[in-house]
Amino acid sequence: MTEQLNRITVHGTPVVPGIAYGPAIWPSSRPELVTDAPALDEADREAAVDAFVAAAKAVENRLLGRAAEATGAAAEVLQANAAMAADRGWIGAAKKSIAGGVPPVQAAIAATEQFVVLFTKVGGLMAERVTDLEDIRDRVIAELSGLPEPGVPMPETPSVLCADDLAPADTAGLDATKIIGLVTIYGGPTSHTAIIARQLGIPCIVAAKELESISAGIPILIDGTTGDVIAEPDPGHARELVEQSRIDRERVSTWTGPGQTADGRPVDVLANVQDGAGARAAASTAAGGIGLFRTELCFLGRETEPTVDEQAAIYAEVLEAFAGKKVIIRTLDAGSDKPLKFANHQEEANPALGVRGVRIAWQDMGILNRQLDAIAAAAASTNSSPWVMAPMIATPAEAKCFADAVRARDLVPGVMVEIPAAALLADQILEHVEFLSIGTNDLAQYTMAADRMSSELADLTDPWQPAVLALVARTAQAGQAAGKRVGVCGEAAADPLLACVLAGLGVSSLSCAAASVAGVGAKVGSVTMAQCEAAAAAVLATGDPVAARKAAADAIS
Ligand code: PEP
Ligand code: MG
Repeated sequence: MTEQLNRITVHGTPVVPGIAYGPAIWPSSRPELVTDAPALDEADREAAVDAFVAAAKAVENRLLGRAAEATGAAAEVLQANAAMAADRGWIGAAKKSIAGGVPPVQAAIAATEQFVVLFTKVGGLMAERVTDLEDIRDRVIAELSGLPEPGVPMPETPSVLCADDLAPADTAGLDATKIIGLVTIYGGPTSHTAIIARQLGIPCIVAAKELESISAGIPILIDGTTGDVIAEPDPGHARELVEQSRIDRERVSTWTGPGQTADGRPVDVLANVQDGAGARAAASTAAGGIGLFRTELCFLGRETEPTVDEQAAIYAEVLEAFAGKKVIIRTLDAGSDKPLKFANHQEEANPALGVRGVRIAWQDMGILNRQLDAIAAAAASTNSSPWVMAPMIATPAEAKCFADAVRARDLVPGVMVEIPAAALLADQILEHVEFLSIGTNDLAQYTMAADRMSSELADLTDPWQPAVLALVARTAQAGQAAGKRVGVCGEAAADPLLACVLAGLGVSSLSCAAASVAGVGAKVGSVTMAQCEAAAAAVLATGDPVAARKAAADAIS
């Protein structure tokens, strides 16, 4: 695509695949944030408090009204934002400063700043809520100042919405026939913009830092697979790409498996699940099995360890949903971003590098042994033979120790490759286990020394990082040499184009969220193994994710 089009003006992080072509539009401007203003007279303060409360209430009611008209995720985000407008802490902070003489607009600015600092400090998902809170502030200020509500215009012609970032109140009421794509300067893969775009099924790119250079009205082409935003492309070629993307979507909606390339080379497409309900939902897709059952997610709220019987009942539900098919159960990956009260024993300065995952077992084999007993009981009661793998394996000796415990229960042992050390010694690890599953989320975190929860470091933890893919290649080669299966179960496997690259690197299965199964299966089914291999070789010759995506797209198209 890149060679035939005029120029790529901007690049961002792609979050929802697809192509959109139309004029760029930008939301109407937000109120100016004036922080200096004379103090209120004593006599005016009570009325000012009332005016602030009334403005916040008006904003809350408007958002609730829109929530009532919306459905699904859109309704949920609007309700959550309405709750933010009614937040006692935020309103209380503003009321307190108004009572002290600060005018309502400045009080709203100060109260918001106070919470923004707090959210940013907490980081992760909380930090991504900063945009939502600032949106509430702007709406309340507009209300107080008698200005029109800030937000997204409703265009006559189908347009691509460009923005700094989008708050739920902007995105939740969007009409996908009028707003055909989204691009934002800020935001991450879990921001509301991405959630709503996924729900609307429109292509979306976030963190497009140079987007400001695109003015309203300019025709743009966005590619939600590569992250490219191209200003004023050749119109004929742009329309062809849009049509191709429509055909791709149709192919996805009719994909029924099995996972294989266009020339019939099998590549299993499996689902990641977290409990029985998730497994049953995944069973309604064309997933060929379960590639990752994250058992720790069943027990996040638990104060005490679930009994063997309790665990066995949960695992049996998952096995029953995929009776007769491959199911890979991962033993507890407690710690770091998924702390379990009954498993994590102490505060650690750096939990991602601490006693997490299988490392807990090295201090006390009890929890692991009881979990393996439960898995064995579930396997017996459902007459199935699950594969069982450990997270966070770092050495061949650890793999052996885990495999011995699994084999002692007649189960099939494997390990995850999430630590570069495990990828580098994959051949030795394979002497002890039957299969490997690469967790690209953690493998990227540890290879790039970048916290996977940090949206600021999203460029580094991008699974398209060639260094991460070089470790995947090495692991897959070790699997082929040993005649054992190597899958990928991190987010990388959910990206259809990257899935083709992974297949070309020699990976034998791809496991992703159930919602991504058809997209991945259809894409892999549309290309030959030779194309996948060419894409893989091209990607390994690049030095960054932008070049890697382009190399893969060029090799496959
Ligand atoms: C991974 O690290 O890629 C993985 C699949 O495990 P989790 O995301 O649960 O840490
Ligand atoms: Mg992991």
